[in-house]
Amino acid sequence: MAAERFEVIVVGGGPAGASVATELARKGRHVVLCEREQFPRFHIGESLLPCSMPLFERLGVLPELERRFLPKYGAEFVTLDAKLSRHYPFAEGLVEGSASAFQVDRAEFDQVLLDNAAKAGVDVRQGANVTRFDTDTRRACVSGRRDSGERFELEADFLVDATGQKSLVAGRLGLRRMDTTLRNFSIFSHYRGAKRYSGTREGDISIVLAPQGWWWVIPLKNDRTSLGYVAPAKAQRGRKLDESFLKEEIAASEFLRDRLDGAERVAPVRTISDWSYSSERMVGDRWLLVGDAATFIDPVFSTGVYLGMIGAFRAADAIQRSFERGRFSAVDFAGYERWVQRGVGTYRKFVRGFYQPEFVELLLQPSDRLRLRGAVTSLLAGHGIDRLDVAWRVALFRALAQLNRIMPLAPRLPGRREAA
Ligand SMILES: Cc1cc2nc3c(=O)[nH]c(=O)nc-3n(C[C@H](O)[C@H](O)[C@H](O)COP(=O)(O)OP(=O)(O)OC[C@H]3O[C@@H](n4cnc5c(N)ncnc54)[C@H](O)[C@@H]3O)c2cc1C
Repeated sequence: MAAERFEVIVVGGGPAGASVATELARKGRHVVLCEREQFPRFHIGESLLPCSMPLFERLGVLPELERRFLPKYGAEFVTLDAKLSRHYPFAEGLVEGSASAFQVDRAEFDQVLLDNAAKAGVDVRQGANVTRFDTDTRRACVSGRRDSGERFELEADFLVDATGQKSLVAGRLGLRRMDTTLRNFSIFSHYRGAKRYSGTREGDISIVLAPQGWWWVIPLKNDRTSLGYVAPAKAQRGRKLDESFLKEEIAASEFLRDRLDGAERVAPVRTISDWSYSSERMVGDRWLLVGDAATFIDPVFSTGVYLGMIGAFRAADAIQRSFERGRFSAVDFAGYERWVQRGVGTYRKFVRGFYQPEFVELLLQPSDRLRLRGAVTSLLAGHGIDRLDVAWRVALFRALAQLNRIMPLAPRLPGRREAA
């Protein structure tokens, strides 16, 4: 079978794949995107960050997203018994910029981005599962099977792996390294009729602090609320991860009981392991990884979609430069890899802190000296990358959390301390 010829092959049509493909097509490249599912398809990851807004604007999808989804103006951290809470409105961040984001139904959101890629000229092929790839000094090839059973072969100058947690390339090359300190499971569903705040706080994400893990409560459009629990394996205590598990855990929280009083579950109970990992290499000769295919960090700060998309924009710039130079070796993409490692690294440190009680205690009672609270708010909005003014304050916040371990700077959370 003769391979069809393109300039760039993107495998995976999630937010990272759709973004890199759209950007490259707009820069004049001949791009094909293979997505194994037929959209719309379910995906977890519903809470977005304000820093994504300029990216949506650049892609040209902002008006469509405003029409479809609930705005999110802030995040709150709250204890299971609802006695202590802290609200972080994005408008109070250190960095000026967008003060809102969206809470989205991912099936719909991902579809908007993928349709937009097709509009930009990307040859989008859904139901196209890539099973093999090969790269050498001259070209990149992939092959796979369509839903119809038909086989396909594609050839291009460059391959982008955007396969999310499936990590096609890193998996096959044995590059994926698990983060042994962040090994959690997650169980979640959707409810109708759950209580929510009103006014500008309606779309706030609530992060509910359990002794061993945490819950997300994400209000969506049409009276739906996404609820999910994330915790280390030991919190399972031999129980099956099913609806009774979810009910038992909800019953242990005054905050969640109150929110869900009178609500009904309207989606299946789903589970996913959300172990964090990173690929030892993210670029090679004629290939690179974007989004979750490159690295994934625990979802507590809702960074996945934003980091995947901003990385995809960076990747598109680097790939375009390579076309201009006519050179596609790993060294040409080293800058992109360093940038991803640095950006994700900042968030990874903050996420690790979140699983330490002394850190969360401070998050509930942040000092506003030196505008530390504003810096944390900006980090939560997505400004954790390329901002020195945020970075040094966040580093100081982490140092204060260490100090809080031995010298109380904030009220203790006994449940979390005992479980640590
Ligand atoms: C429990 C949990 C909660 C989360 N919550 C949030 C949140 O609130 N906010 C947030 O921003 N992020 C969240 N995330 C992270 C977020 O889901 C991901 O970071 C994001 O979806 C990554 O986008 P992506 O485009 O890299 O990959 P994906 O969105 O996973 O897209 C990859 C695509 O590739 C396709 N694919 C895979 N293999 C192949 C193949 N062989 N051939 C063709 N196609 C293929 C898949 O079908 C899929 O459509 C959460 C993650 C978890 C686990």
